[in-house]
Amino acid sequence: MITIIGAGISGLTLAWWLHKEGLDVTVVESDTSVGGTMKTVRDGDWLIETGPSSALATTPLFEMLSRELDIEDEVCFSKPSAKKRYILRDGKLHMLPMSPFSFLNSGLWSCGAKWRLLKEPFISRADKEETLAQFVERRLGREFLDYAINPFVAGVYAGDPAQLSVRDAFPKLYALEKEYGSLIRGAMKKKKSSADDGSVAKNRAEMFSYRQGMQSLPLALHKALGNRVRTGIRVHTLSRFGNDTGEFIIKAEENGRAVEWMSDKIVLAVPAYTAGKCVEDLAPETADVLKSISYAPAAEIFLGYPASAVRMNLEGFGFLIPEKEKRSILGAIWTSSIFDGRMPEGHVAFTVFVGGARQPELVDQDEPALTVLAETELNSIMGIQGSPVYSRVHKWNKAIPQYRIGHGQMMNQLAKTERSMFGLYFTGNYRGGISVGDCLMQSDQLAKRIVKDQTFNTQKE
Ligand SMILES: Cc1cc2nc3c(=O)[nH]c(=O)nc-3n(C[C@H](O)[C@H](O)[C@H](O)COP(=O)(O)OP(=O)(O)OC[C@H]3O[C@@H](n4cnc5c(N)ncnc54)[C@H](O)[C@@H]3O)c2cc1C
Repeated sequence: MITIIGAGISGLTLAWWLHKEGLDVTVVESDTSVGGTMKTVRDGDWLIETGPSSALATTPLFEMLSRELDIEDEVCFSKPSAKKRYILRDGKLHMLPMSPFSFLNSGLWSCGAKWRLLKEPFISRADKEETLAQFVERRLGREFLDYAINPFVAGVYAGDPAQLSVRDAFPKLYALEKEYGSLIRGAMKKKKSSADDGSVAKNRAEMFSYRQGMQSLPLALHKALGNRVRTGIRVHTLSRFGNDTGEFIIKAEENGRAVEWMSDKIVLAVPAYTAGKCVEDLAPETADVLKSISYAPAAEIFLGYPASAVRMNLEGFGFLIPEKEKRSILGAIWTSSIFDGRMPEGHVAFTVFVGGARQPELVDQDEPALTVLAETELNSIMGIQGSPVYSRVHKWNKAIPQYRIGHGQMMNQLAKTERSMFGLYFTGNYRGGISVGDCLMQSDQLAKRIVKDQTFNTQKE
């Protein structure tokens, strides 16, 4: 039997693919419902995403899953205008250019910053591991770092470019320099070629969700896996029976009662800090590595207004704020502009993000204070009149893992532990990318690896 600990999207997709291969899987989840970070709340006519608001169709695995789980009719694509994104500079929202012509005309960067980009193809490769900030400043210049990458990283990782490793957090960007010696040259060459595995670059992938929200996918996986998924079980520790190839003993808690069972194989599909706690006895060094991965906190404040309260044109995905603008929010998604049917008729909705690695202390405020902060910033940036008619706050004390300098070595240590401890595997968004698509691709690879290990083991017997 294979026990998968954690019924987030990583654990559930892995379970589904292993089950399809005829393997005996059980998924255990501490929460009462599945999805982990990927949860949706329906409150009357309001639909609130407390985690991912959408996914990018970067892999054909999404389409395959929708077909297999019979939820193809549930898939909804974002409105074409949601491709428009804005960045705040000097208190004004500037649209991110979508063509070379609009780039030249954009007021987001100075002429000097635009000229600076022409130097990029002539800059030599780095000779040591760099942070994203070092990499971007060296190749593209300071202004591009401040008014493109800094807000982008706050939006994706809730992170700080001065702390993230370019190689581990943005491997595709890093590979452009490594393979082509230039981001601009590399991007132009890549545009002409397509990936062998059917994957699509994030900037070209279609954005989608499901009519009833993002949790539809984990819920459909739960339904298909049936009683192979058991909720309300919190795993505490793992140990091994007998020698290095003996079965694992899992100690957990169910309804306040201690429970224990054995399993041939274990996959930890929980956040890194929990995985670290679980393997404290089994692999103490790896436990320390896992516990040292830092997570940025974030608060999401969902605000609903009558449409008449907003005068500005709301065509777009939303806006992000560079650190230099010294604001108390990271940005906002124009939720009602992306997908239809998520608010009462005649209303608009926004999701405001606060905290991240930039201002973690702001997340400690209570919910009313966070609501006022979000409301005040939206009023000031978007000129909204009056107060919201609906609000809801969701706090993530550990929202997103930060792939900092040294992350690659940590992942090597994890791989070494997997090789030396037969039957123990790790997966999750701290390994191989944080987006939902990245989680799917990683689970797909891991499923193939487990099936191969299983076949090899059966042949040996
Ligand atoms: C606020 C926010 C917004 C995001 N927005 C986007 C977006 O728009 N698009 C996108 O692609 N990605 C987005 N992401 C990232 C993406 O949602 C996550 O990376 C992904 O959902 C993580 O899935 P996972 O299965 O690896 O981990 P998790 O979702 O964390 O799942 C882990 C599971 O393990 C369970 N668990 C924990 N401890 C135990 C235990 N001891 N015993 C048993 N079970 C346990 C948890 O309850 C949970 O269900 C966002 C993330 C956040 C936080």
